[in-house]
Amino acid sequence: MSEQTVIAIANQKGGVGKTTTAVNLGAGLSAQGLRVLIIDLDPQGNASTGVGCPVKGREATSYDLMSGQADLRDAVVNTSVQHLSLVPSTPDLSSGDIDFATRPDRIRLLKSALAQADGYDYILIDCPPALGLLTVNALVAAHSVLIPLQAEFYALEGLSQLLMTVREVRQGANAALRMDGVVLTMYDGRNNLSQQVEADARATLGELVYDTIIPRNVRISEAPSHGLPVTIYDPGSTGSRAYLALTSEFLSRQKEMQT
Ligand code: ADP
Ligand code: MG
Repeated sequence: MSEQTVIAIANQKGGVGKTTTAVNLGAGLSAQGLRVLIIDLDPQGNASTGVGCPVKGREATSYDLMSGQADLRDAVVNTSVQHLSLVPSTPDLSSGDIDFATRPDRIRLLKSALAQADGYDYILIDCPPALGLLTVNALVAAHSVLIPLQAEFYALEGLSQLLMTVREVRQGANAALRMDGVVLTMYDGRNNLSQQVEADARATLGELVYDTIIPRNVRISEAPSHGLPVTIYDPGSTGSRAYLALTSEFLSRQKEMQT
């Protein structure tokens, strides 16, 4: 078994850039020759689409993986990106919160399934927009959590709830869980509000906030419809460059965590 690092990409708010960050950080890491597995843990399946896995290509899914109906090996598919693999999801997963609720091991289903993982450097879990059982499974399985924060009004309000959930998981099932950091996304430098959210986030969270900021960029939002990360769809775009910078900062933070 290799020592892959598992990262949960979480925020209970929808539309803040979780999936975009999972796909493009995944692509950034794989471009460095690292072997990456994305687990699509959102019933909406946007990460699956975003790396070029069409709905009809989703045979075994993250639901099957968690329910024990599929082994990791059977659930993994290749993507449009070299070195980047995927466990897809389908809308079935939306019943996971209920279907798994009565199982005594319900918060460890994903962790157990990932114990079979072999040959990956990083496993990125794209969480759904909720703090339910699926996100808790991701936090229990993860070494650290990465939080995309949309540079919008109310951005910081939901964060305390998420941080509280992280603390609870740390006090319970996963004492070793670390905070990787908070990434500001969809930043519009011409907008005072974006600047204000950044200033508030840095004042409140300090070092947790990544230096790299992901700007609002139309190429980022176009890329998923082509089944490609923006780093491949339009490598020269500001969105692509931002995600490659994020990848470098992510890796230097990883190095720091290991020391
Ligand atoms: P989440 O997974 O948190 O729900 P997504 O990553 O799916 O959020 O992003 C929500 C929407 O915003 C998607 O349509 C995505 O393409 C778009 N988007 C995300 N990040 C950016 C960005 N930096 N610039 C422009 N559009 C973005
Ligand atoms: Mg998403």
